[in-house]
Amino acid sequence: MLNNALIKKFESILGKNNCFTEPEDTMCYSYDAFSAEPVQPDIVVKPQNEEQIKYIINICKDENIPIVTRGAGTNLSGGTVPVKKGCVLLTTCLNKILEINENDMYAVVEAGVVTANLANAAIKKGLFYPPDPGSVNISTIGGNVAENAGGLRGLKYGVTKDYLMGVDFYDMDGNYVKGGGKTVKLVTGLNLPGLMISSEGLLGIMTKFVLKLIPKPKFSKSMLVIYDDVIKACETVSEIIAAKILPATLELLDSFTIKTVEEATKIGLPTNADALLLIELDGHEAQVLEDFEAVKDICIKLGGNIKVAETAQERDKLWEARRKALSSLARLKPTLILEDATVVRSKIPEMMKAINDIKNKYNLVIGTFGHAGDGNLHPTILTDKRDKEEMVRVEKAIDEIFAKALELDGTLSGEHGVGFAKAKYLEMEVGSGTIEYMKKLKKGVDPQNLLNPHKMGL
Ligand SMILES: Cc1cc2nc3c(=O)[nH]c(=O)nc-3n(C[C@H](O)[C@H](O)[C@H](O)COP(=O)(O)OP(=O)(O)OC[C@H]3O[C@@H](n4cnc5c(N)ncnc54)[C@H](O)[C@@H]3O)c2cc1C
Repeated sequence: MLNNALIKKFESILGKNNCFTEPEDTMCYSYDAFSAEPVQPDIVVKPQNEEQIKYIINICKDENIPIVTRGAGTNLSGGTVPVKKGCVLLTTCLNKILEINENDMYAVVEAGVVTANLANAAIKKGLFYPPDPGSVNISTIGGNVAENAGGLRGLKYGVTKDYLMGVDFYDMDGNYVKGGGKTVKLVTGLNLPGLMISSEGLLGIMTKFVLKLIPKPKFSKSMLVIYDDVIKACETVSEIIAAKILPATLELLDSFTIKTVEEATKIGLPTNADALLLIELDGHEAQVLEDFEAVKDICIKLGGNIKVAETAQERDKLWEARRKALSSLARLKPTLILEDATVVRSKIPEMMKAINDIKNKYNLVIGTFGHAGDGNLHPTILTDKRDKEEMVRVEKAIDEIFAKALELDGTLSGEHGVGFAKAKYLEMEVGSGTIEYMKKLKKGVDPQNLLNPHKMGL
């Protein structure tokens, strides 16, 4: 608990309007998009510039106060829940796009820039910032880097790490650190942008980024493919990849998710389908058209019924179906647990089958959708955390989903990070030696364990 003298110290640097200590204010920062028990921080601060961040760090270090950096709070692994209370630092006011360099194709942005704002600013200059999480209209670039956010275009264009060239951050001594830069090639010193990717606020407070931009694709074509067997839809995904075709988007919705999205949006999805694939190809027109025909053949061979989006409005509808998956499912039950099991792509059919078996075994409501082309499925468990008996079954189901993903050469998290949601599973994937190394690294840069303590179990 902070005393009045300390609160005054924060206020003298940030101004009263940028410090919040009243319970009704701090409550808003006690949770994020992961359903966990909320923990209210002692103080929430809204720095207006980097100088203020440095002061906040110095106070917190001197007074042993934990700091949780928070972008939009949309993470799905409990990463911004201040489990040891202390200070939540909001990056919302660091929201400037400082430069979009058309000739050298990069952008320099502050940490609190909303991802869609950067993508739209790039498009206006004929450039493209591909990382496209479902939360693109809310999440921040800082949060995207800290979580290595993926999204709907990961299959062809990669994820946030593939666009991070440089990062500025402050360490827990208040030192300014600069990693990477603006050149395409750069091998000076340790790869600090690589270190900060997926760091989940544990190693420093990031303030600025240099991000790679690429030319905007000139042509795209989208289709919806309807299946009466979800496994056939998954096999289609594996076959498209095996045919060495890389769609920009290759998304899957299972039958439960289709019905739920349709109930919520009324956009005309086929509610009797067992699965849908949403496929978009982009690039040079001739290549797109050639690949499109090949993809169609594969889909038809595996029993898919194809609907091509002929207009921009039809294409937007398809994207809406996918983007509304999570929010539509969230309407059904009080507690939503969105998992992130990811496997090598040829094993998608096996993973999907395992999820369905686990759902039946534990008699749970699970809707599955996801970036199937990346091997990244989101089995989404709908439950009520007040139902203790059901929560025991949920826990067992999650254990089995993760175990299966690892058995299929996969990972616990393709894009949502570890936070505290998956901390207990981390060793299962990386082993104790790796955890020890992570602990040494964390201790080296943050010996008092003040930066987002307890996340990843560190
Ligand atoms: C509807 C919905 C759809 C989503 N779809 C996707 C998807 O398709 N792909 C995907 O990858 N994720 C997705 N997510 C998850 C989430 O949006 C991403 O993890 C996103 O990157 C989080 O950004 P944020 O600004 O909300 O970060 P926050 O949630 O505020 O923070 C996330 C983590 O980053 C740390 N952090 C934030 N800013 C900084 C900084 N400046 N310096 C240091 N640490 C920092 C925090 O401490 C925390 O550990 C989705 C979430 C929702 C709610």
